[in-house]
Amino acid sequence: MLEELLQIQAIDLEIDRIEQEVHAIPEDLLALRRAKEELDAQLRGLEQQLGGNRREVSQAEAELADYQDKLNRARGDQERNAFDSKLQTQYENLIHQLSDRIAELEEEVLTPLYERSEQLQGQLARASSELESLAPQLEQLEQANALRVEALQGEQRRHQGEREALSGTIDRVLLREYTLIRRAKKGAGVALVVGGRCGGCNMHLPVTIQQRAAAQRLPVVKCPSCGRILVKQT
Ligand SMILES: [Zn+2]
Repeated sequence: MLEELLQIQAIDLEIDRIEQEVHAIPEDLLALRRAKEELDAQLRGLEQQLGGNRREVSQAEAELADYQDKLNRARGDQERNAFDSKLQTQYENLIHQLSDRIAELEEEVLTPLYERSEQLQGQLARASSELESLAPQLEQLEQANALRVEALQGEQRRHQGEREALSGTIDRVLLREYTLIRRAKKGAGVALVVGGRCGGCNMHLPVTIQQRAAAQRLPVVKCPSCGRILVKQT
């Protein structure tokens, strides 16, 4: 019965190994996933900046339209009062001020905003096309990985079937004990006695324990140090 338990353990360790393999995502896939995430974040950042830019542009354009209205009104008023020389000077001054303000808005606010907008749109287009160009390879690698995982899971199911067939031949209390030790030790629940030592923790075992381990009878004997079930093959 302990031989079968050893076989079950071999299967369990194999299932564990496959489980680790399932989670070991290929490096090239991980690198592409990271690249995609970075580009997505970059795109979100650029879109946000563009949104802010658009708001600033429409604010400055509204301000500009307002000044242009005022300028047109001032010019109309100037024409209507063409014969009043005192008012003419006032209108000249106002028109001069408004024209200055308009030129300032155009050159110092709107032009840089338009330039920034073009720059952001260029960056956005580059990031989008980069994202688009890595999509086919990413998809290919994702598909390959899904197939790889599927194959490993098939292998796991096969081992699971073998394990179930074997566990029918083992005392249920012993199997439960083995499972508990295995869980606590995060690995092996049974250890072989080799050269008088526990194969699990390498502790030297008293001769009486070695003899009981060789007898392979129930109740099982456990390592006084690590608590694993001991089996000595003869
Ligand atoms: Zn031990």
